[in-house]
Amino acid sequence: MVNIVLFGPPGSGKGTIARKLWEKFGIKQVSTGDLLRREILEGTPLGKKVEPILASGKLVDNKIVARVLEKGIRGAKNGFVLDGFPRNGEQAGILEGILAKTGQKIDLVLELVVPDGKIIERLSSRRQCSKCGRVYGLHLPPKKEGVCDECGGKLFQRDDDKPYVIKKRLALYKEETLPLKTYFRKSTRVESIDGAPAIEEVFLAAEKKIASLGK
Ligand SMILES: [Zn+2]
Repeated sequence: MVNIVLFGPPGSGKGTIARKLWEKFGIKQVSTGDLLRREILEGTPLGKKVEPILASGKLVDNKIVARVLEKGIRGAKNGFVLDGFPRNGEQAGILEGILAKTGQKIDLVLELVVPDGKIIERLSSRRQCSKCGRVYGLHLPPKKEGVCDECGGKLFQRDDDKPYVIKKRLALYKEETLPLKTYFRKSTRVESIDGAPAIEEVFLAAEKKIASLGK
């Protein structure tokens, strides 16, 4: 059982690596966005509360995030991997509080290092289907430009993936998230891998780092 925080800028492949770790080793992918969406799908009281907040594009407050996160972490019997959390000092404090309560600890902080230019190239080439939501990009181009392979829907670029927004997200990452590396180093093993190659190669490097734990 191993608990991991995946660390890296937007577009560094955290979500994909987390999903592969889940598929291959059963390490539960814990993403606050997914956890919130599940509450909404299941129609829980919490879901009813957050639905209008998410729909309006606002951020859900940290108390609610802490609640779903604690639930997600407690349910992870075979370890968990956090991707995209914590993003800033306040969220790092929330995580610390939850772990103190559940008696767990983070075994590895794994950083995916990807140059800005590559991030911008990756994210700005991303297109989403307006009908079924499928995401296309450099690794998965649609057969016909601007048209979804699956359903024939029209592809569009999310505002999040426009170059000026990507630059803003990268700046925010450097200002608020990257400094957490120093914070984690005090108590946790922090390892970095090159996130620029093809995802299979990055995943192999991640597996090696995980296998080296406890050695
Ligand atoms: Zn589609």
